[in-house]
Amino acid sequence: MKLLSTRTALVLIYSLLLVLGLVAFTVKYFNNASAWVQYPTNRHLYANGKLHSSGTIYDCSGSILMQMVDGTTEFNKDKTVRTAVMHATGDVNSNVATGAQAVFRDRLTGWDIINGAYRFNNKLSSRSDLTLTLDADLCATAYKELDGRRGTVGVYNYKTGEILCMVSTPSFDPENPPDVEANPEKYEGVYINRLFSSAYTPGSVFKLATAAAAIDHLNNVENNLYHCDGKLQIGGDMVTCPSAHGEVTIEQALANSCNTAFAQITLDLGADRLQKYADLAGFNSRLEVDGIKTAIGKVNVADVEGADLAWAGIGQYTNTANPLNFMAYMGAIANDGVRITPRILADQGIFSFITTSVEKKRVLSAETAEKLGKMMRNNTISTYGEGNFRGLELCAKTGTAEVGGGKQPHAWFAGYLDREDFPLAFVVIIENGGSGSRAAAPVAAKVLQAAVR
Ligand SMILES: [Zn+2]
Repeated sequence: MKLLSTRTALVLIYSLLLVLGLVAFTVKYFNNASAWVQYPTNRHLYANGKLHSSGTIYDCSGSILMQMVDGTTEFNKDKTVRTAVMHATGDVNSNVATGAQAVFRDRLTGWDIINGAYRFNNKLSSRSDLTLTLDADLCATAYKELDGRRGTVGVYNYKTGEILCMVSTPSFDPENPPDVEANPEKYEGVYINRLFSSAYTPGSVFKLATAAAAIDHLNNVENNLYHCDGKLQIGGDMVTCPSAHGEVTIEQALANSCNTAFAQITLDLGADRLQKYADLAGFNSRLEVDGIKTAIGKVNVADVEGADLAWAGIGQYTNTANPLNFMAYMGAIANDGVRITPRILADQGIFSFITTSVEKKRVLSAETAEKLGKMMRNNTISTYGEGNFRGLELCAKTGTAEVGGGKQPHAWFAGYLDREDFPLAFVVIIENGGSGSRAAAPVAAKVLQAAVR
């Protein structure tokens, strides 16, 4: 009897170990199968370490951006197009970590967690093709307008989340990859998709987060007058303004980008409220674009006061902004305060029935968004010049972000079109490009006019 119970106990222990092992394997399988299958030694997908077949990547109108012909990767026929979308497709050596051919490799190789790498007749089905939301011609326009300068241009539909334009420079022709190491200055950060993976000092575009807090928390803020004589002494420090703006309302202060007025507004708000509205605007968190994680823009004003706090409210201090995240904030202002997360895949593949294609979050009240939007519309009419953006119904904000070190500021221009037929939000950044209105705004004008044609 004793022997029997010992054996039973042993059997029980072994069964338990077996079950535990199975559970561990299943968990590991679901977490890592995709990585295992993409090992270059997997002969179902690879020959001599190279993929032997892959689905085709299309743009939103069916232009081929990348395809595999007889084991060789080919890109769009037009050199400007393939250079403009290089960060979207990725390069042949997978140096661009956020490129579609790296991120969506499972789908392109026809692998999925249920069917594995099984293929009927060993042929890839059209299921392994990818359609991106990008408009290749619009990307080419943006690439040309950046004209050799470093930076990024993003345009997306703030109602559906579809990214139409995504360009990051420097770039290169993926069919003739350059020797990047031989020319480090020209190709600085060339494998980084700046829209997704960078964070820049925002400068005055950040005033759109400060203004939202002011609308919600400062009594009668729309009628208050702020005095600007070109500078403001705060303790032992000085906040300076490009010129003496005199008596200004918050609307005029936004249009003239008056630092002095926004310094006073920020001090009236205090650090806690500024922090809250920075967080709501998307700082200190990342977005996921069909699984691609963006870099995090940071604003941290806990225990910050005086001139440092004032500079933070003007978008300087230690603030940084991720371009895509900021573009999504522009979309939220346009979309009655509801931010739609941008996306890059036009269709979600075989799991489309469980993935929600539109991810939304309220970041401002509808009333605050409307007031902010009106101020941004006034910026165009009173300062940037409606004639420069004819027919676009442009609501926008410039930024000229000081970066120190004797370098030119980063030029920003961000905003949206208040149009039912073209609900587009955008961001343009030119690194060390100088003034936002002179360097970045004309690029936005050209790209947005092309987008509505
Ligand atoms: Zn001023």
